[in-house]
Amino acid sequence: MPEGTIIVTGASKGIGAAIAADLAKRGYDLACLSRSGSASVGSGYACDMTDETAVKETFAKIASGSRLVGLVNNAGVHLGGSTATLQTAEFEKVMALNATAVMVAAREVYPHLKAHGGMIINIGSFFDKLGVPDNLAYCASKAAVAAMTRCMAVEWADDGISVVNIAPGYIETDLNRDFLAREKVRRWMETRIPVKRPGSSEEVARLVGAVFAERIGFLTGETIYIDGGQGMNH
Ligand code: NDP
Repeated sequence: MPEGTIIVTGASKGIGAAIAADLAKRGYDLACLSRSGSASVGSGYACDMTDETAVKETFAKIASGSRLVGLVNNAGVHLGGSTATLQTAEFEKVMALNATAVMVAAREVYPHLKAHGGMIINIGSFFDKLGVPDNLAYCASKAAVAAMTRCMAVEWADDGISVVNIAPGYIETDLNRDFLAREKVRRWMETRIPVKRPGSSEEVARLVGAVFAERIGFLTGETIYIDGGQGMNH
């Protein structure tokens, strides 16, 4: 991957912050986006990814001062609840960030990557292939990410742009810390996850960093699961 700037969304904490830190160690410049705009590496930008105007303005600002070589679509939200009582607004809230914003960000970065190739990594979830009770909106949004990854990959292969979906299993972050801390959940994980523990943000970040750094041109459109082996046995 040539030197330049990578945009990471949802980079103020959790998996996104770890991804930004790993990419910074590998020599990339980072544009770290989140609503708060806080960043421990690179430059921080306050940008709500569900606000299309803000995304357009922020991406244009970043591109005007740097050579964009990549995008990590990481910002995401989880919202559970029974399908029988799920409100339309709740479903749309999850889709707006987890799916629509992925499309908007990729579309806005495309003209800049098109000039010299590059890579887009979407952060999906192993829920994209599972039927999980009380998780309809989240599962649907992550299945959309896997589908969009395939569509972008075929459309943009001629431009030298690779698009990959990295789909984690349970990773301990603010998104699920309370859930994973429950004793019952810990015991359940020991029986259901072959490696017997949740993953860390750093493990996901190392995979994202390696995929960026190695820049394997024949790898595109694919979903790579990093879930301790849980998904294959679910
Ligand atoms: P966290 O809740 O720890 O962090 C979410 C990040 O996204 C924060 O930086 C937050 O910053 C930012 N964010 C939230 N809403 C918006 C928004 N509207 N616009 C811009 N930024 C926003 O989540 P994780 O690190 O756990 O998750 C990151 C990704 O990984 C998500 O896509 C998630 O679905 C996926 N994933 C997570 C798993 C897990 O077990 N943790 C498992 C599988 C996938 P701020 O609040 O400042 O905006």
